[in-house]
Parts: sequence; structure tokens; C-alpha cells
Amino acid sequence: MKLQGVPVSQGIAIGRAVIWRNDLEIKEATIEPGEVEREIARLEQGVDKAKRQLAKLHQQTREQVGEEEAGILFVHLTFLQDPDFIGEMKRRIEAELVDAATAVQKEVEHFEQLFAMMDDEYIRERATDIRDVGNRLIQALTGQENKRLFHFSEPVIIVGEDLTPSEIVQLPKEFVLGIVTMKGADTSHSAILARSLGIPTVMSLKQKTDQIVSHGDLVIMNGTSGEVWIRPNQQVLAIYQEILDKEKKLKQQLEQIRFLPTITKDGHKVKLLMNVGGLQEMEDVVSSGTDGIGLFRSEFLFMNREQLPSEEEQFIAYLEVVQQMDGRPTVIRTLDIGGDKHLPYLNMPKEMNPFLGCRAIRISLEHLVLFKTQLRAILRASHFGKVLIMFPMISHLEQVRQAKKILRETQEELKNEGIAFDPHLEIGIMIEVPSACLIADALAKEVQFFSIGTNDLVQYVLAVDRMNERIQHLYNYFHPAVLKLIHQVIQAAHRQKIWIGMCGEMASDPQATELLVGLGLDEFSVSSNLLQIKQKIRSLSYAEAVQVAHHVLTLNTAQEVQHYLLSRNKDKSRIK
Ligand code: PEP
Ligand code: MG
Repeated sequence: MKLQGVPVSQGIAIGRAVIWRNDLEIKEATIEPGEVEREIARLEQGVDKAKRQLAKLHQQTREQVGEEEAGILFVHLTFLQDPDFIGEMKRRIEAELVDAATAVQKEVEHFEQLFAMMDDEYIRERATDIRDVGNRLIQALTGQENKRLFHFSEPVIIVGEDLTPSEIVQLPKEFVLGIVTMKGADTSHSAILARSLGIPTVMSLKQKTDQIVSHGDLVIMNGTSGEVWIRPNQQVLAIYQEILDKEKKLKQQLEQIRFLPTITKDGHKVKLLMNVGGLQEMEDVVSSGTDGIGLFRSEFLFMNREQLPSEEEQFIAYLEVVQQMDGRPTVIRTLDIGGDKHLPYLNMPKEMNPFLGCRAIRISLEHLVLFKTQLRAILRASHFGKVLIMFPMISHLEQVRQAKKILRETQEELKNEGIAFDPHLEIGIMIEVPSACLIADALAKEVQFFSIGTNDLVQYVLAVDRMNERIQHLYNYFHPAVLKLIHQVIQAAHRQKIWIGMCGEMASDPQATELLVGLGLDEFSVSSNLLQIKQKIRSLSYAEAVQVAHHVLTLNTAQEVQHYLLSRNKDKSRIK
């Protein structure tokens, strides 16, 4: 049987099905008026227990998966701290004379129904989060365990109605080949977590699990296309087995170039670095074959907490990174908060257009104590390895001058206190606002390097909100306007004799590699596909790439650009 779902997390898996059922048993129970107080006290104890569990899971997720992913569980924790949510449960105990578990169940069902009626898919998907918190609370109250977790002895594909975020983070990864769910969507927190954990996932099959699959059935799933086969025939199985074998072989081939230099066939060298968004990524980064860290997103140190991290706390984190990189450079970007990233403990008034508001360097220049504290921590870490500092979202020349002035003052202070730092540390800025591209010559005179942040540059050049699903079809870094600005800013950097890299997602796209090399980019800082990009660069000719870039700059639409680049890739693979 072949089914079509929504592709959520890439990858192919072949394996036996394990049916994932919500086996929480809740028997609705009524109470006597005299028992109300006791049930409310039980509810409060249950909430405390659930909070402790979630706090622990939040911490584990933070260490093992990432800061942003842990943020999902932090939100769950805030549900349990919400006096209205818990207050409504208490009200039900009192008004409806039901026990604590029934009150929780009813309140969660009420929210699930509310969310189900929403037009916005993103909001609809939050129903699973409420269910997740509710289940945890019911378990805490009834002493039931989640029996579904941790009982695997061989790799399997999990098939179920829905998987909640906290179930996904607790899965024993070594046994999970893939996930298939009947509900859910690409924007759900479960989907985000499955992607972060690299588990191939298809959601929204819109079937009843027990009508299509049984425990132990053979399943093939394709997390890239959304196709799922239950009990496939031999022919389909053979095709997919071959694809998996090919992928394995390709991986082995890529493995062989991990520690080889990133250089074109005709000898043009490029630096290949990685982006880091959390300390838990460091282990993989250190052994990845990267030339260093091209973007260290320092904001994760500031998120999901209740107060600013101290200088010491930050210093320890930066030091750990710098020491692990053991001489390889680390570009630390100063705090990039605002836009969609909010710090509850910092006074950040609501803005009409947060992405155009007080964000990134604008916040640092407004909160000088915060900024200086971070600079002190970065400078102190620079004594122990190769650190570069980068300011985000520069739109005005004065911002660079002001940031540099504060950096100089901070260096002076450290010097007076006898604290060591690297006096030759390089200073750079992110190029992610069109105005910065247009005044790049002037900016380049102030700094030692640029790094192009295409994630923001695209949204600001094309006026397309990077968070708005509805207009994602308009968000494209192959748009000629974006390419022209990238071309201009690379030219300006080279005219002023500074190096220029890219740390936006475009750098991680193998489809864009030849074009970017041809445009003259000196450094790629990738969030994924490091080996594919390295292989791509090693297999191309710089002279040819320059011609490609030349031609691309004459094209008028993103579609034309993509077609042309695709046709080149096809030609290449045919030659091979
Ligand atoms: C970018 O804008 O391209 C970038 C790398 O920064 P972030 O994605 O963190 O905004
Ligand atoms: Mg950015």
C-alpha cells in the first residue's frame, strides 16, 4: 500500500513498524464536595512534579539537542506556570466536582477543540503541545508511566497517530530509523525536533493507524518526498534498497575527502567553516574537518533563561569553544536578539515590525552594559585561541564606528586591569541589510572582514518576511537582485583588500556553490552539507566558475538562474 504524507525531515528508511499508541488511561471520576480541597492540593502537587520533570528534560535537550529546540520545552514549562491554565483546572474540580486528572483532561480537550478551529496551521499545531503538557500532568497525577518509550531492541520505524515534542526528544535515537504519523504538520514542534535530531519523518498521512498498519509490518518511508509504503512489494523494496546502498557508498566517498583541502581543480583556495548555534554541536564540529567556526551565534547563551548571563558565564562558554577549536578560528557574533528572538528579562517593548526594529547591533548599542559585558568575555577568551568578532545587522557606517569605539574602550579597561586578550583580533561585520551592500566600500575601510548573511539579506532585499510561510515562494536567494548585491559587496571587499565570507543558508546549498566560488567568495560557513560543498569545490574549475557567475548575472529571474545551475549540474554528473 502506498500513501502520501507531508515530508517533514529528509532521509529514507526501511524497517519494521512499531505502533505508537496513546495508552494513557483516564477514567473520568467525580468527587464529593468535601473532597474538593484535597483534589486541588493533589493537582498542585502534580503540577510541581510535572514542572520538575520538564525542567530536567529541558536541561537535557539543551545539552544534547540545542538551545532553540529546548525552547519548545521551556514553553511547555510556562504553560504549567500559567495561573489561568492551572486556575481553570481548579475551577473545574470545584464547579464540576471531578477529580484532578479529569479536570486536566477536560481542560486539555477544551484547548484542543479551540486550536482545531483555527485557520492558521501554525496555531492549530500548538494543540499537540497542550496535549503533551496535559499527558505529563495526568501521568504525574495517576502515577502512570509513558509505556511507549524506551522499549526497543532493534532499529524500527515508529508509526502512530501523533508524537508529542517531549516523546520525540526522549526517543532512543539509535533504534529509530524513521517516524510516520497520521497527524501533525511541517510547522509543528514535533516536526522541528525530528529535523534537529536528523530522524527521517513523514507526517499527516490522514489515515487511522490501526486500519493501515500492524506491529512488525515492513515499511519504507521517504522523508524527502513524503511517500510511505506499507508492506511494499519486492520491486519497490529493491528500488529503495538500491537507493539506500547508493547513499551509503556516496557517504563513504565523501568521508575520504573530510580532511583534504578545499581547493578547486585549478588551484583556487577557499576557506570552509561551520556555523554553530549551541555548545552541544561542538563535538561534531571539532571532528568535521572544518577550517573553523565562521559564525558562532552567541544569542543561544542568552535565551531560555531568566536573567542575563554574567561575564564569567559567557567567558567560560567562549573559552570552551575556543579551546576545543585548538587554534582554528572562531568568529563570535555579538548578540543578535530581537526580530523573532525575545529575551523576557530584557526590556524589549512590543514593536510593529520587529525585524525592522530594535534588533541585533541596535540592541547592543542601546544596552551598553550588556554589550560591554559580552565584549569583555569574548576578548578574554581571545587570549586562549584564535577569536574573531563580528557585529550583526549593520545598516549604518556610524554603527560600526560606535561598536569599534566601545570595543576599544573595553580593551583599554582590560589592559588597565592587567587582563590578557589578543590585541590583533580581527573585527568583521555581517552583511545582511541592502544598505550595507551599497556602502560596502566605506564599511570595508573600517573592518577586516565581511560575512554575508543571506537569511536576512533576502528578506530585506525582497521585502519577504523569512518567517511567513504564506510568501515562502517569494523568498529565494537566486533572485537576481540578491545576486547583484552579493556580487557588488564581494567586489567592494576585494577592492578594499579584505576577505569576505558567507554564513547564511545559501552557503550550505550545493546548488549555489559554483556560482559563489565564481563570484569570488573567499569563505563559506555552512550549517550543513560540509562534505558535499567540499567535494563540489574540489571538482570544479575556478576559471569556469567565473564564467558561470558572469552568465548568471545576465539572467532576469530566480527561475532562470536555478534552471541554468541545474543544467550545469546535470551536465557534470553525465560527464562523470
Ligand atoms: C543570516 O541572516 O543569514 C544569518 C546567518 O543570521 P541569522 O540566520 O542568525 O539571522
Ligand atoms: Mg541574520
